[in-house]
Amino acid sequence: MHEIRRVLVTGGAGFIGSHLCERLLQDGCEVICVDNFFTGTRRNVSHLLDNHNFELIRHDVTFPLYVEVDEIFNLACPASPIHYQHDPVQTTKTGVHGAINMLGLAKRLNARIFQASTSEVYGDPTIHPQTEDYWGNVNPIGTRACYDEGKRCAETLFFDYHRQMNLSIKVARIFNTYGPRMHPNDGRVVSNFIVQALKGEPITLFGDGSQTRSFCYIDDLVEGFVRLMQTEDAITGPMNLGNPNEFTIRELAELVIELTGSQSALEMRPLPADDPKQRQPNIDQAKSSLDWEPTIQLRDGLAKTISYFDALLAE
Ligand code: NAD
Ligand code: UDP
Repeated sequence: MHEIRRVLVTGGAGFIGSHLCERLLQDGCEVICVDNFFTGTRRNVSHLLDNHNFELIRHDVTFPLYVEVDEIFNLACPASPIHYQHDPVQTTKTGVHGAINMLGLAKRLNARIFQASTSEVYGDPTIHPQTEDYWGNVNPIGTRACYDEGKRCAETLFFDYHRQMNLSIKVARIFNTYGPRMHPNDGRVVSNFIVQALKGEPITLFGDGSQTRSFCYIDDLVEGFVRLMQTEDAITGPMNLGNPNEFTIRELAELVIELTGSQSALEMRPLPADDPKQRQPNIDQAKSSLDWEPTIQLRDGLAKTISYFDALLAE
């Protein structure tokens, strides 16, 4: 008899996690969603609560967790600079202790485990676009370090558990992702600009807006997660997942104004410390081993995201 796959998603009530839970349920899995609701909300998964294959548990991953599953996706960690800098010590604990606890769980269960790592492991990169063999340029004592170094240390732990205990690991380095259910006040650029534009408030451009990012729509990213998790054991990553189409932040602001039809003006603000000047993933590895690349253009993804925030603000 074919048994139903039981999957744990930590950080499952967050932006990416909630979309992943949805997709795994669609694929016929049983999903245990664990979250401490620091930045995620019950509301993000409220439409899943009636599904008998879905279970929501309030739990902080810095404490051990005892559940029985076949696979683990470890996403628990605040992801926006405002949130991860709110309690930096807790951010590092979530990154590192959370990884240790989930790896310990995976080891006991001999379960495959996926880590949501980040392009921030490359810091303010000196090579462009970033390939997975680049070791990064991270300030270890800066204000972003609690997140960046926490994620770097988590990668170290994943690879040591793989080498030492033969654990099956999948490490994805996620580049800027956006879409419905982003937190409206988390300060990330896409949600900020859309909310500001919809409210007719000034669009806050940090620096001169010439810094670049490459934005991936959530559905493309989740497809990449699912494909990476299904690969043979020999494929561990780290693997870049993101959209290689690069835009300046000023271009993003102008596109959001156009698509919302807003009258908002651009307002220059100081550039935050250690803000990377450019970021673009090289996704050759994902293309060849997952046969994956993003399909949703920024303009189309933004339109869907704008509809979501429009409805949210109208409540
Ligand atoms: P998010 O803030 O919406 O989701 C993170 C979730 O983790 C939230 O639901 C939060 O409540 C939960 N959480 C935080 N600390 C926890 C703890 N100690 N115990 C249990 N749950 C905890 O952010 P997101 O954008 O969905 O990010 C998800 C993951 O992807 C994160 O690990 C993030 O670092 C990674 N990532 C995201 C992006 C992006 O562009 N969105 C880019 C790179 C990496
Ligand atoms: N940014 C901006 N205005 C905002 C929020 C962010 O100009 O209101 C800039 C920010 O300085 C950075 C880029 O947008 O250069 C992306 O910021 P975000 O916090 O979304 O992600 P990250 O810096 O982690 O890539």
